This record gives sequence, C-alpha cells and structure tokens, in this order.
Amino acid sequence: MGTKNRIDYYRILWLTNLYIGSLILFISCKPGAENRALVLTGQNTHDWKASSEAISVILENSGIFTVDIIESPPEGGDMSVFRPDFSGYQLVILNYDGDPWSGETNANFAEYVRSGGGVIVYHSASIAFPDWQEYNEITGLGGWGERDENSGPLCYWENGEIVMDNTPGPAGTHGEIADFLVVHREPEHPVLKGLPERWLHGNDELYGALRGPARNLTILATAYSDTAIGGTGRDEPVMFTISYGDGRIFHTTLGHPGEEGELSSLNCAGFITLFQRGAEWAATGQVSLPLNPDFPNSASTFFWEDFRPLTMDELMEKISGYKIGKSRRYLADLSNRIRKSDGTAETLLNIEKEIVKVCNSDATADCKKYLCRELSWMGSEYCIPALQQLAKDPEMAEMAGFALERLRQ
Ligand code: ZN
Repeated sequence: MGTKNRIDYYRILWLTNLYIGSLILFISCKPGAENRALVLTGQNTHDWKASSEAISVILENSGIFTVDIIESPPEGGDMSVFRPDFSGYQLVILNYDGDPWSGETNANFAEYVRSGGGVIVYHSASIAFPDWQEYNEITGLGGWGERDENSGPLCYWENGEIVMDNTPGPAGTHGEIADFLVVHREPEHPVLKGLPERWLHGNDELYGALRGPARNLTILATAYSDTAIGGTGRDEPVMFTISYGDGRIFHTTLGHPGEEGELSSLNCAGFITLFQRGAEWAATGQVSLPLNPDFPNSASTFFWEDFRPLTMDELMEKISGYKIGKSRRYLADLSNRIRKSDGTAETLLNIEKEIVKVCNSDATADCKKYLCRELSWMGSEYCIPALQQLAKDPEMAEMAGFALERLRQ
C-alpha cells in the first residue's frame, strides 16, 4: 500500500510505555484479512524499525494477514518485562537479534511453535541466540555469535542434494551486497509451485557457512555465493523450512535492510512474493495466494517500490511520460502483463481500454508510439477510432498507420 493508504491503516496504540521499556504497535485494521501475525523486534544490528514496518506492509498487502509489531526494551534494558502473548497469532515473524529473553518468554515461544504456531525467521534472526538450543532447533541453521562445529554441521547444496558437512570451523559469513540468482530446489513445494525456478534477486546480502541442528529441514532455494565478491564458493541455502513439533517454520536469510532505511532488497518482487507465500504456508500449511505475472526472471531483477505491484492506473501514469532513451522498465512491465495475462478476450479488452485512454491523453509521442505497437497485435475493433485519430497527427501517422494496417489483416 502507498504512503497515503498507510496513514489510513495505521492505528498506533501505546499499550505500555517507553519508561517501562516495552511497547506494542498495533498497525493494522485491514478488514477481510484472516490471519494474525506478530512481528517480534526491538534489537538488531540492522535497521529493525524500517524492516519491521516493511515486512508488516508486505504481509498486509497479501490481503490475508493483519499484523502487530511488538518491540523489546532496548539493549541493556529490563528484559523481564518483555512478555509477548503469542496466543491468537497464526504467525510470528522473528526480526530480533539482541539480549536474551526471559526464561518464561523462551518457554512460551517454544510452546507456541510446538503446539502448531507458524514462524518466519527473517534475515538477522538467523544470528540470534546461539546458546538457546530450542531456538536453534526451530530456526534450523544460523551464523555468527561464536557458533562453530558444536552448533551443528555446515549445510549447503552440492550435486543436486543437501550436504551436511562436519568440518570444524566458525559459522556465518557474507560477501559484498550484489544481485544474485536464486534457484528453487523444491519447485513443487506449495511456497514455490508455479513460480520461475531461477530468478535474479536484487541488491542483497547472501549468508553463507551456516550451521545448526538442521533437523527436519527442507531446502527450498539456494544461491551461489561468489568468491569474487568474498563469498564461500558454494550454493548456500537462502530459503528453507523446518518442522518443530506441530509448528511450521519458513526461514529466509534474504532481505538485508541497508543503512538509513534503504530497503531495496525487500522491494524485490521475488522477495515479497516468497515472503507472503512462506507466511501463508507457515500460518496455515497451504498456499492460496494467486501468482502475479510481475516476477524477476533469470536475467533481470524486478522491484515493487511500494511492496506491491503497480495498479494498472499507476502503471499507465508512469508510461505516459516515457521518452526514448529513458528507462523502459514500465513499458516492459505492461508488455509483461499483456503476454502473461490469461489471454481471454475480456482481459485483453480491459487492457486495451486502458491503453486507448492513454492514446487519447496528452501522453508523450514516444509513449503513444510504443502503445501503437502493442495495439497492432493485441488490439481489437475497440482501438480503431483512437488509432485513426492518432494517424491524423503527422508525428504519429506512421506508427498509427502501421497498427491500423496490421489490425485490418
Ligand atoms: Zn544483513
């Protein structure tokens, strides 16, 4: 949702106060969402405020979650007051790496998972609590925090299968931030089914050399950690599932938030799509979310600035200012939507109507020429009057004439 809508949705209630050191932000009242999710955050070496808000918006944009955020006291604070109530939530998202919780909170969380609660372990939560055994059973794999061979084997992908490597040594490393190819290893898993099996993820940190108990763990996707930029030279797990008791856990190491709220890796349409699908699977055991034609392919990244696809109106607005030499990103987006639509006459006519609206507007000539080309193969009778009108403009005559000629064939 955009900034404008965010103001409508956010209802911030201070239940306890900063003086006590624990606060809960209720940020969603979206009607129709069936599942309740709790983002657990408050300490983290990353920008946890910006990333927690972003993942809340991502979950709400799925239409099937309402989201609350709970913040722990700051580092060094009295953690005994940090007592999240997990009851009533179908999903807990861990975005926390900091001071140990109280024994009671640890026990409550483990019981929540054991008794069937859904969990997302998100990026730096892979680093938290190296000494809490149950946490490591739940998260499956982790890094840093003085983890070593005593934490469990290294886990990576090699020759078409998962490898558990007991070589001694530390755990947790990453190379430089870069784009990298994500490869699905369980394409029939409900989280991944129907999606491209290889896609370019944008501008992220790739964790490697992770270790952990790795029990009941299924690797959904890996990415090659390139030694040229400081990586491990292995295909590292980036998304995996764990079962713990009756609980389902979806662990993604992706989504590094940069300095000062820089969130481009979270804007990746691939990250968002899989975060939403992983969330639904963890919360319910199945995935009903529809697939969106916007998705990166193996050669190009694809970002959603507001953590959701543009509406058709927004897309046409972006396209209407197009000039040759400028980015063709939005043109490619429209072409993609046409080509990957269900192809029925009704769907194509709806898109055609949007295109004709722009042809009749004061959009740039370069934009209209591009639209004439699209209409030339997907248009119907409906666009003929608009094309005839364009053909009267000397600058547009050639492209509009070309489209009319093709449509009459
Ligand atoms: Zn990071």
